[in-house]
Amino acid sequence: MLRILCCVKRVPAPGARINVTADGLAVDAAHLGFTTSPHEECGVEEAVQIAERCGGEVTVLTLGPPEAAEQLRYAASVGAHRGVLVPADGGARDPQRTAAILAEAIRRLESADGAGPFDLIVFGNESADSGGFQVGVRTAYGLGRPIVNGVKGIEIDGPAVRVRREIDGGFEVYEMEMPAAVGVKEGINLPRYPTMKGRLASKRLEIEILDLDAPLGGQTMVRLRRPAETVSETAILGHGPEAAPAVADVLESLGVL
Ligand SMILES: Cc1cc2nc3c(=O)[nH]c(=O)nc-3n(C[C@H](O)[C@H](O)[C@H](O)COP(=O)(O)OP(=O)(O)OC[C@H]3O[C@@H](n4cnc5c(N)ncnc54)[C@H](O)[C@@H]3O)c2cc1C
Repeated sequence: MLRILCCVKRVPAPGARINVTADGLAVDAAHLGFTTSPHEECGVEEAVQIAERCGGEVTVLTLGPPEAAEQLRYAASVGAHRGVLVPADGGARDPQRTAAILAEAIRRLESADGAGPFDLIVFGNESADSGGFQVGVRTAYGLGRPIVNGVKGIEIDGPAVRVRREIDGGFEVYEMEMPAAVGVKEGINLPRYPTMKGRLASKRLEIEILDLDAPLGGQTMVRLRRPAETVSETAILGHGPEAAPAVADVLESLGVL
């Protein structure tokens, strides 16, 4: 039976207006909706599909605030079997520290049940908010496992995993002995929607909590800055057929007519 672990991050829902806290160091989450990064949603879907095809169990791991349990429940509603939360203390959150904590969490999970290493660890290529492209590679390195990022196809072949990595104008194909890790990209599959049965089952998911920390990495966030807003104007040129001459004038001024 394959054991697959997916690392997911709770991120603000796309399209939301992002405000920065008064100290300029964090996103003000007071009025935001949250979701799982799209690459990671595809990662969970891929893991569930592999488990369905080859037989296996999917564990989902997140480091974040207690509310990140929602993202674990969502993963369970689409087929994941276990959910593990490492509560974050709200302190400095650099990718080195994050990766060190995730690697330690994975070591604990692998030694706790004596089952040994997860065959495959699935990361997103990058998270949808801070998108540092570091955590997957650093975590795999910390665990001494090979990793390929930018993955758009995964095939399990006995003790090996063959992956297709998207490059300009084509694909690279890699093979890794498992245990191994991948960073997947959105588009590798079309994630399923939760069924009613899945939603109900996810409410019963017992979330495992691991309390862990790691030393700070070497980088310090100086500040977050929102880009200047681009304001677009809408002019109503008229209603019904009477608007036609004004529309023609605009098209003419744009050089379209
Ligand atoms: C002390 C501490 C406190 C933190 N507090 C919070 C918090 O309150 N809220 C919050 O959202 N985050 C918190 N984090 C996590 C942190 O914000 C980022 O997740 C981390 O720095 C990753 O950077 P990135 O987004 O550039 O990831 P990338 O390097 O772009 O991520 C690549 C992939 O790594 C995996 N990954 C990244 N971050 C996580 C994660 N947190 N959990 C599981 N998998 C992950 C995903 O699969 C992702 O697609 C905290 C981290 C630490 C160390």
